[in-house]
This record gives sequence, C-alpha cells and structure tokens, in this order.
Amino acid sequence: MLKPVDKSLIYEIMYFMEENDDWLSYEYFKYYRKDIFIFWRKANILLWKLFKITKSKRLALFIGDLQITQAEMIKKDWEEENTPYNEILDDCYREIIEVIINNKLCDPLENVKIKNIRGFDFFNAMAFPCFGDNLLAINTGVFFLSHTLVRSTEALLKARNENTKLPKIFEKLFLKQFIKASLAIICRDHTKTIFKIRFIASDDSLLTGIEIFCIAHEYAHLIFRKINYEYTMLKFEKYYDADIVKLIFTNQEIAADAFAIIVLKYYQLSLNEYSIALYSPQFLFKIFANYDEILSTKESKTHPANIDRYNYIKKMVCQSKYDIYDSELDIIWEKSKININKYVNKYKKYYNKIMSIWNEILAIIREDIESNKMH
Ligand SMILES: [Zn+2]
Repeated sequence: MLKPVDKSLIYEIMYFMEENDDWLSYEYFKYYRKDIFIFWRKANILLWKLFKITKSKRLALFIGDLQITQAEMIKKDWEEENTPYNEILDDCYREIIEVIINNKLCDPLENVKIKNIRGFDFFNAMAFPCFGDNLLAINTGVFFLSHTLVRSTEALLKARNENTKLPKIFEKLFLKQFIKASLAIICRDHTKTIFKIRFIASDDSLLTGIEIFCIAHEYAHLIFRKINYEYTMLKFEKYYDADIVKLIFTNQEIAADAFAIIVLKYYQLSLNEYSIALYSPQFLFKIFANYDEILSTKESKTHPANIDRYNYIKKMVCQSKYDIYDSELDIIWEKSKININKYVNKYKKYYNKIMSIWNEILAIIREDIESNKMH
C-alpha cells in the first residue's frame, strides 16, 4: 500500500517554485542566443513565412541584412567568457582530483585546463593535448541537459524510493517536463521546449554525479594516454570482478567509464545515505537507451551503444538498491514515450518545412552576392 502524500516533499517543491534567481533560465536564454540559426529562426519566423507566401526577392535580401545585424548585436554574448558553468566545472574537477589523490587512484596530471565550450544543446565532452596543456572540453549541454533531465524526474524517483506518491497534479507536471526535456535532447532544439523548471531537490547528488562522471571519463582518457594504455597500472581488479576487468581491457571508452565509476564510488562515500551520485551514469544511459528506441540511432562510431553502456555500467555500479529507480524510469518512459514519439515526428516535419523556406532565402542571398561580385 502507498503511504499518504508526503507533505514535506510538496513543501520542498513549493519552495523551489518560488525561487526566482534560477541561473538555469538565465543560461538558457543566454546560450540559446548563441546558436545563431535557431536564434534567427525564432526572431524572424514571421518574415520567413511572409517570404514563403510572397517569394519576394527584396524581402529575402532584407532578411539577409537584418540577420547580419542581429548576429553583430549578439556577438558580444559570444565573446563573454565567464559563465556560472565554469564555476561548476571547476568545483567538479576539484572533487575528482581530491578523490584521485586521497585514494591514490593514479598520479594526477599536470597542466590540465578545463573549459566549457559551445553547444549547450548537445551532450558531449572531449579530452585532448593542446600546446603542452591537457584540455578537458565539456560542452555546456552536459550541464544544461543533465539539469533538465534530473529536474523533471528526480522528484518522481525520490517519491518512489520513499514509497510515497506525489499528488497527481505534480506527477503530471513532471511527466510533461520530462517530455519537453526529451524533445529538446532528441531534436536538439529548445525553442519549442523552453525550460522554466524551478524545482530542484535540495539534494543535488544525482546532478553532480552526472557532471563528475562526464568529467572523470574525459580525465581518464588523458590518464590512459599518459600511462601508454597500460590499464594494469590502474588496478581495475581491485574494484571489479574478472568479467568486467576483461571487458575494460577491450575498449578505451569502457575503461574510461570504469575509471569514472571508481571516482564516483569514492565520491559517494563522502555523501549522506540519501545521496545517489553513484546512480547517475546508470540513470543517464538508461534514458539515452530509451531515446534510441525513438531515434533508431545509428551506432556511434566512437562510443559503445547506449544500451550496452547502460548494461555494463549497471554491473560496474553494482547496487541493487538502485533497481527501484530504474523501474521508476521505466514507468516514466512507458507513460511518456508515445507522446515523445508523436512530438518528435511533428517536429521533424516542422523543421523540414522551415529549412526549405530558409534554403530558398539563402539561395536568393547567394545569387545576389554572386551577381554583385560580377559587376
Ligand atoms: Zn570517451
């Protein structure tokens, strides 16, 4: 039997609804402006549609000039370097280094620079040597998208774990937000899915876990390079059973995940019993694997498929107490996948239509540029 509604949970949600200084919304608007094509589309859609009706060459050229002016105007934003993400990155990086040193996982690297880079709409990170430095480049999307996913699901996960039930109205609201977050990730477009979620659990361990996992994964690539891919130096057998260790030795990406999970395991020890940082990678790849159902994704060339990654990560994490979260994610997915699928298809149609208008405008602008060159 379910317990009656947990009042403190509602209170927590109400409290965060009233919070106004939400840097997520701030970042959303700022970064959204960084994606010039989406910005142009959003700002000029009426003109684009007018062009579709009139096919006026003059209008197309006007749109071209207008968009250049708009780009100049927002260029300032692009040049601005420091965002709250940099601080989050630095904090996570410090945690990772602390874990590595305190637990003697390996010798920490020197000359590491960590930077958040453009692309707040996709989930990606890279590590590479660059003029004597080791660069960890994390797309802003890693942070932004983890926020949207965590914020729309965490209350549901926690309620399930506490064997309580959210009031129907909140349950519906969170599901709706999960659908929006999913669309934004699948379609890589936030214009239809403006995120205004102000709820965040007071314990943000799930979110921090994702961030630490992503950075530690990239850090692992740098470590591997330094030790010449001699994985035995990292003593994986101390943490994983023989099957997993064998798997780790087959693939650099799997080894990087394994390294990041060791970091998370130690990090989790420093948190209280309600924290679920260690569940984070399992959470992430379970959701991504679900998206693959809709995307019918071609296999990634660089990384193992999301579903495989989920499966071995679950084994590496090895915590049966997280099964309840997995099954709640299954429920969330069952309840939302039909809608997500429907909206994704609708979006694709819309996008193709809009792109064809834009391509016509672009053709006229190009033609004009060419003919001006000739004169
Ligand atoms: Zn990798």
